[in-house]
Amino acid sequence: MDADVFRAWIMAAARVIDEQRDHLTQLDAAIGDADHGINLARGFTAVLSALDTAEPMTPGEVLTLTGSTLISKVGGASGPLYGMAFRKAGKALGAARDVDLPALAGALEAALAGVQQLGAAREGDKTMVDALASATSAFSKALAEGASQAAALSVLAEAARAGALATISMQALKGRASYLGPRSVGHEDPGAASTALILGALRDVAGGAGQ
Ligand code: ADP
Ligand code: MG
Repeated sequence: MDADVFRAWIMAAARVIDEQRDHLTQLDAAIGDADHGINLARGFTAVLSALDTAEPMTPGEVLTLTGSTLISKVGGASGPLYGMAFRKAGKALGAARDVDLPALAGALEAALAGVQQLGAAREGDKTMVDALASATSAFSKALAEGASQAAALSVLAEAARAGALATISMQALKGRASYLGPRSVGHEDPGAASTALILGALRDVAGGAGQ
């Protein structure tokens, strides 16, 4: 997967975040302050123009630029967390022009470690970590079992979605939703939902049959 694939991923992520902006904001209205979709859509719009202007040449540069732009344009908890995730992933890819599946797995692990370093959330705390951790470990397991790129990316996207849905029954222990205590139970975490959309976009652009 080269820089064009990573650019296509981020453009597809921007599109789906924009399409699902109101849905993400509604999820945040239930257990937060109703800004998650607005925050992320604004951030990804800025990412699209940054990608246009800067013309990053490697996958790592695409992700690093995405992360830096999200940090500067997205307020709230999720901007710095997503920014950290993309920057760590970009750094893990280094200067490679072509990224294979193990390198992508390493980038996902670096992203997860970055989010946990910054936000100190563990699995089960009802955050984006639940989608990202579930996706990352399912992806690495699929690779260890010899999955094709299409199969591994489909596992990645499905595990992210399952991880997001699993947050419904959790009580939030981190972030704004934790202020609600037990009343946070019964709602999907907005950051986990957006993580599933972003990883679903990767499957959509790079997980086609034959790839
Ligand atoms: P804010 O909560 O500041 O309004 P957003 O609404 O944009 O920010 O994002 C909320 C999302 O951020 C939550 O749904 C959750 O997934 C994520 N989040 C919040 N705090 C943390 C944390 N400490 N670690 C990981 N993710 C977190
Ligand atoms: Mg919010």
